Amino acid sequence: MICRCGQSQITAKHVIFATGYETQQYKRERGAELTSSYVIVTEPLKDLQDWYEQCLIWETARPYHYLRTTRDGRIIAGGLDEPLPGGRLVEGRYLAKSKQLLDYVHQMFPRSTALQAEYSWGAVFGHTHDGLPYIGTHPDYPHCYFLEGYGGNGTACSTIAAEMITDIISGVERPDIQMFSLTRSPHPPPKHH
Ligand SMILES: Cc1cc2nc3c(=O)[nH]c(=O)nc-3n(C[C@H](O)[C@H](O)[C@H](O)COP(=O)(O)OP(=O)(O)OC[C@H]3O[C@@H](n4cnc5c(N)ncnc54)[C@H](O)[C@@H]3O)c2cc1C
Repeated sequence: MICRCGQSQITAKHVIFATGYETQQYKRERGAELTSSYVIVTEPLKDLQDWYEQCLIWETARPYHYLRTTRDGRIIAGGLDEPLPGGRLVEGRYLAKSKQLLDYVHQMFPRSTALQAEYSWGAVFGHTHDGLPYIGTHPDYPHCYFLEGYGGNGTACSTIAAEMITDIISGVERPDIQMFSLTRSPHPPPKHH
């Protein structure tokens, strides 16, 4: 493959797209849905005794919340995902969402109503209809490999993808890569009643 960047030209036998959600811009069939997700990190708490074993909490409700603690005694609270209008994060939207997340923390831990958020963010989050990543080649892009980890296990998917693509380029057969084919239908199968 030949890539022309300004005055320079790079020639490569293989190209691996490992550019996260940005990869959606480079190919016609995007395959994943992008949403926005929000998160806050509170100031450290002196006492987290109210929280049994400080276990990870993750709701299955939609929109969902998740809660976990940090080693220095802070609470990370996130979720409240919503559609991404126009494919971009809305500037300042995280301010309203971080207030909702803090209210949720106060509701869960009524003895900590003075607790404030020290950090807050909005982020783009991507997921596929079947929860699987897209890993491998695409017929429209010869000699290219795509590494697209999506969903709440995206970091694990990206690690698996890195191993698979390395194997294939090194000549090791990986028939299991078919599960993650870029040409599988991006839509859920129709529901039969
Ligand atoms: C709020 C939030 C919470 C999440 N929670 C979890 C979780 O708990 N567990 C989990 O497993 N996953 C989670 N994920 C998903 C996970 O972060 C992603 O699936 C994972 O990071 C994807 O890894 P990647 O290496 O494919 O891409 P990325 O980690 O996105 O890395 C891609 C890199 O490419 C760079 N890049 C993009 N375009 C270009 C370009 N043109 N040139 C050069 N560089 C470029 C980017 O800057 C970036 O550094 C979460 C995601 C979000 C947003």
